[in-house]
Amino acid sequence: MAKTYDVVVIGGGPAGYVAAIRCAQLGLETACVEKWINFKNDPALGGTCLNVGCIPSKTLLESSEQYHRIQEGLDAHGIHVDGVSLNLDKMMARKEDIVLQLTNGISALFKANGVEWLKGHGKLLADRQVEITARDGSVDVVNADNVIIATGSKPIDIGAAPVDNAEGLIIDSTGALDFREVPGTLGVIGAGVIGLELGSVWSRLGSKVVMLEAVEDFLSLADQQIARDALRQFKKQGLDIRLGTRVTATEKVGNSVKVYFKDKDGDHEITFDKLLVSVGRRPNTDNVAAPESDLLFDERGYIHVDDQCETNLPGVYAIGDVVRGPMLAHKGSEEGVMVAENIAGQHGHLNYDAIPWVIYTHPEIAWVGKTEQALKAEGIPYKIGTFPFAANGRAKAMEAAVGMVKMLAHAETDTLLGCHIIGPFASELVQEAVLAMEFHASSEDLARTIHGHPTLYEAMHEAALAVHGRALHKINT
Ligand code: FAD
Ligand code: NAD
Repeated sequence: MAKTYDVVVIGGGPAGYVAAIRCAQLGLETACVEKWINFKNDPALGGTCLNVGCIPSKTLLESSEQYHRIQEGLDAHGIHVDGVSLNLDKMMARKEDIVLQLTNGISALFKANGVEWLKGHGKLLADRQVEITARDGSVDVVNADNVIIATGSKPIDIGAAPVDNAEGLIIDSTGALDFREVPGTLGVIGAGVIGLELGSVWSRLGSKVVMLEAVEDFLSLADQQIARDALRQFKKQGLDIRLGTRVTATEKVGNSVKVYFKDKDGDHEITFDKLLVSVGRRPNTDNVAAPESDLLFDERGYIHVDDQCETNLPGVYAIGDVVRGPMLAHKGSEEGVMVAENIAGQHGHLNYDAIPWVIYTHPEIAWVGKTEQALKAEGIPYKIGTFPFAANGRAKAMEAAVGMVKMLAHAETDTLLGCHIIGPFASELVQEAVLAMEFHASSEDLARTIHGHPTLYEAMHEAALAVHGRALHKINT
């Protein structure tokens, strides 16, 4: 007879594995179905994020940043370095080691919490039955009182540039995290988050990077004042970002790829050693539910859910990249916690208005809440406070005094509505604003909070003070 679990989670990425751990913590008998096979040909947990996403990309961003800084960033400190060289094999081996440590860590967490890992492809059948097809083709079926689908996302393909990671010429992010030599030239289709992060990695390691972006607005989701500053700084670094371009075709020429594209000036072609396609990701719903399950999808192919991540089927939930909302690891994880707590009869919730975004370029870009353009469009009255890192002592000492903090507060209530940062450690700084927004703080609350000196956080403090025209270390306008 088929075994019955309290909860079966399909997918072991940051949404699914966190949901499974939280369910087990709450005393629910939990299994997680996961089919990932890693670069060592072993089954692995952690999903896109740990295997081919957040972790390997941040590892290479850090390594390439160190390499670049030693070459170009130390002169200002009076440090002269000769004979810097790159051992790409070692850099890649470090990345692989970190990925293995973390993915093995999830499997240890499963054991410690009593989560059973069912290795294979999971598929929702009718009546909360889940079919598991193992690597050897054997099929098992289990019953679940609750099912959580967390099958993630995959890159969007475009007909003009078909990806073939095995061939290694036109690649997606997974291919671009695994080059074995630095390409002389790298074309990137799509100047979004992946294009900018991986374009930065290879540019710092020596590639000439050209980005072909379809839309005219750079980083259209970000606050446009910050995005304009970012574009200026990235161009200064040598990233050749061409907005308003449309790739029409590609052609393999020996070991290179020729890209044909149009912009307002007409037709162009450029030949690259490698071409990265990073034009967005789409929900991964391949064979995830049998038709007789009656699971409902929305018009864009995401699994349809409500604010609590409940699908149209009682006891069936979906979380992470496979449902609406930003495709971010922490968003999926928090949905996992919310669903687990609701299954256990608690009152799980998630504040979708306080999800931080981070782009790990140099300088970093991070934000939470509404952009200025969104506030304008929604007719919400707001006040702005900005503070440049050029006036921050710690940023100066770090030789990192670029960018700014921009706070947006409600003009009448002073409630913090958004915070947008471009500058050093923006990824860390933004958390202060996330916490403030979670507690419905006002800009005055941040302005009256003591910030250590000298810290980058003083720029957050000064931007909050600037909302009411009382920044202490800049001339208020
Ligand atoms: P996934 O991580 O995609 O996991 C889904 C899992 O489900 C996979 O392991 C898959 O094998 C498994 N699966 C799918 N179908 C089945 C099935 N039928 N049966 C069994 N298993 C199945 N986000 C950030 O927040 N910060 C970052 O810095 C960041 N960097 C990124 C860098 C790159 C290059 C990429 C590609 C993404 C990055 N992201 C980042 C996005 C982040 O990786 C995703 O938002 C996150 O992984 C989504 O988590 P998830 O659990 O929903 O899906
Ligand atoms: P993206 O949505 O960030 O960027 C895609 C870009 O491609 C957009 O600017 C879009 O206008 C452009 N584009 C779309 N079609 C195009 C075409 N045919 N030609 C040229 N340009 C085109 O998507 P992404 O960079 O692929 O990343 C996918 C998702 O992964 C992100 O949205 C994000 O949710 C997640 N991610 C997050 C991080 C992070 O948090 N630091 C890092 C990497 C990825």
